[in-house]
Amino acid sequence: MSGPVDVRDDIRSFLRNAPKPAGLRNYGPTPTAADVAPGRQWHRFLAEHGYTCLHWPTRYGGRDASVAFQAIFAEECAYADVPRQFSIFGPDLVGPVLINFGSDDQKSVYLEPIRTGAHIWCQLFSEPGAGSDLASLRTRATRTGTAWRIDGQKVWSSGAADADFGILLARTGADKHRGISMFIVPMTAPGITVRPLRQIDGESKFNEVFLDGVEVTEDAIVGAEGQGWQLALAMLGRERLTLGTHAVAMFRKHEKLVAAATQRGTLDPVLRRAMTRLWARMWLLRLTWQRALDDGDVSSSAFSVLKLMTSETDRDLSDLATEVLGIDACAAPEDNEFVHHMLVGRAQTILGGTSEIQRNILGERVLGLPREPH
Ligand SMILES: Cc1cc2nc3c(=O)[nH]c(=O)nc-3n(C[C@H](O)[C@H](O)[C@H](O)COP(=O)(O)OP(=O)(O)OC[C@H]3O[C@@H](n4cnc5c(N)ncnc54)[C@H](O)[C@@H]3O)c2cc1C
Repeated sequence: MSGPVDVRDDIRSFLRNAPKPAGLRNYGPTPTAADVAPGRQWHRFLAEHGYTCLHWPTRYGGRDASVAFQAIFAEECAYADVPRQFSIFGPDLVGPVLINFGSDDQKSVYLEPIRTGAHIWCQLFSEPGAGSDLASLRTRATRTGTAWRIDGQKVWSSGAADADFGILLARTGADKHRGISMFIVPMTAPGITVRPLRQIDGESKFNEVFLDGVEVTEDAIVGAEGQGWQLALAMLGRERLTLGTHAVAMFRKHEKLVAAATQRGTLDPVLRRAMTRLWARMWLLRLTWQRALDDGDVSSSAFSVLKLMTSETDRDLSDLATEVLGIDACAAPEDNEFVHHMLVGRAQTILGGTSEIQRNILGERVLGLPREPH
């Protein structure tokens, strides 16, 4: 039987020998427009070799892989500077929800194309007036007899410009939480307009999505009518867990920063101390993450602590670029990997639930402190 060292060696040599499509880079959880073609090709290659959707049950094409195996794969991908899949949405967020709550038809239609990378998904949750307080969303789905008609607006929808399907939350009733349902929406449906938003780093990963009289069939609803909030919480819990695992990529970033500071002669005692502190934090994070996973329940609210620690450590690490680069930090992001990281670092403490919201979750659900007044 092979142990963790053999597994790591196998994965490392698989990744080293894998043919990398031209233009492939480790773009993070979601690709930009330029990453779509190489990212898709890479995902297909991983799928052909059984390296996508590792956590899915084997009957849906996954590996039923242990969390330790998934962690090793993620770490080795970070070291090889390649994405571990096309994006998080299909494999990590939509797939598990369909497996647990979808109809047999939905499973047979959507799971395999997610695994192989034939279908790209996006998450249509946030709205201009509903981010942290997601349950106040106003996009509405109304019955038209045999179908549903959807009207409203979504925002910050990562990867929507290139997605084939969106997983959408819409209001189907008056109750704040029980009046929300979840739908599968083909992004080519008439009435959908996607407008890319340009970010501070010059990339356009996220979008505004307008839904104007979009018709979807009765079987587009996931779970039961009014069950959307429950499914959304399951999906957001997984998102926090997945974002927590990105800790591994930080070691690579840290190594590169140390090398750049050494080469530029900027590694003075102050920077040296800051880098050492961050390195220690990264180890604490990695060990806390492993301990939490060993303890079992990956749906636990305690995983908010990993999302919180990961985002804030990543942001602080990215900020070190200014110390390493000095005046060169004013360069255009497309010309410098570190400037790019520094700008993107701002998003870490917002996406997947802000740091303030993670602290609220930890305070209320883990520490049992009095609830925030609403
Ligand atoms: C890079 C990126 C990618 C994203 N991708 C997607 C995506 O693909 N799909 C999608 O649906 N969404 C996506 N989002 C949206 C993300 O989920 C929201 O930005 C996030 O939930 C915060 O919502 P908001 O931006 O509306 O901020 P708001 O909720 O308006 O919050 C503004 C500020 O107020 C604070 N705040 C709000 N409520 C409280 C409270 N109760 N207690 C203390 N402080 C509070 C927040 O922490 C924040 O600092 C993405 C965001 C980013 C940055």
